[in-house]
Amino acid sequence: MSLNHLFANRTSRMSASEIRELLKLLDQPDIISFAGGIPDPAYFPREAFGEAMAAALSEQAAGVALQYSTSEGYTPLRDWIAAHMATLGVPCTRDNILITAGSQQALDYLGKLLLDRNDTALVGWPTYLGALGAFNAYEPRYDRLDPADNRAPDQIVTEASVAGGRVKFSYLSPDFANPTGITLSEAERRTVLARAEALDCAVIEDAAYQSLRYDGDPIPAILALEIAQKGDIEACRTIYLGSFSKTLAPGLRVGWVVAAKPVIAQLVLTKQAADLQTATINQIAVAHVATSVFDSHVETLRAVYGERMHAMLDALADHMPEGVTWNTPEGGMFVWVSLPNGIDGKALLQKALAANVAFVPGGAFYADGSNANTLRLNFSMSPAAKIVEGVARLGKVISAELA
Ligand code: PMP
Repeated sequence: MSLNHLFANRTSRMSASEIRELLKLLDQPDIISFAGGIPDPAYFPREAFGEAMAAALSEQAAGVALQYSTSEGYTPLRDWIAAHMATLGVPCTRDNILITAGSQQALDYLGKLLLDRNDTALVGWPTYLGALGAFNAYEPRYDRLDPADNRAPDQIVTEASVAGGRVKFSYLSPDFANPTGITLSEAERRTVLARAEALDCAVIEDAAYQSLRYDGDPIPAILALEIAQKGDIEACRTIYLGSFSKTLAPGLRVGWVVAAKPVIAQLVLTKQAADLQTATINQIAVAHVATSVFDSHVETLRAVYGERMHAMLDALADHMPEGVTWNTPEGGMFVWVSLPNGIDGKALLQKALAANVAFVPGGAFYADGSNANTLRLNFSMSPAAKIVEGVARLGKVISAELA
């Protein structure tokens, strides 16, 4: 029987992810897919994980690895992360770190922690669809986060209050964002911080792709800039989300939150109520693999994905008709393409699938479904030659559409 009439109001904003539905259709071998947003499994550090799992399951270690453990997370992993964060200009201790089941879980917990119904969340336009999905269950209102926004903070505050709540946070992915691939400059990061200060809201810095830089110089994390200003992470309003999904392997579901201790303490309570802890053996394996191969493995990924990104950018220049534009990312997994106004990405996808090439229509990434004339192209999943062939196919489909 259907129990739909009993579902809570919040479920009305939970819709099937367009991307997940689409990915189900893409198993045919002839299709060159730029639709995914996932790492190339050929580069998972399989052997290192094999050794780590075997060690964790040895007679001496299995009693710990298969047992419940603390909600905060496995101590050696939190210590590795604290040292890693120090290299990013974020001095902190393990007490500033909570291990989560991927950064996706952290997004859900932060929605639970911060959002009452009708509170305002400032998000990028477009933004990561999974973040909207996580926040939607807490029934917020969305407003636009844009470093170039020249509205006075007072106006944003008033509009949030008229809507029945207050501004709780700005959410953004400052390095190689999903879906646009765009990176915020240091000045833009400072603006986001200053704006959050004026609005008295938190900043959620989603650093899922931070390590995957192929060109240009690293830009300090927003949390690093705030610590440099205020002298201590305990004085900071930025909540940093890290993940091993894009660097080591997403299937283990290990990510982390870095924030001031009172924020971590409340998130620990949230985690205790939700799932007690992140899988013990997965945390142990990730600690082992991160300690032994993180830097060298990330070097390999940067070489492989960097070559693919350049192949895609060159192919776009060779094959896209006049009127089509795209950004030039410096890392991550995505290139964002804009078509002339009036061309609908979803309708184009049907034609592209007939030509055996796939992408994600960009409208899905806007909180209000606007900007249907955009496309997200992923370059992490295919070797360069396949990328060039796929872009050539897409160029033909778009040219036919424009003709
Ligand atoms: N944030 C962004 C921007 C992402 O693209 C993703 C994964 N696609 C996530 C968070 C979630 O990743 P995970 O839960 O695997 O860490």
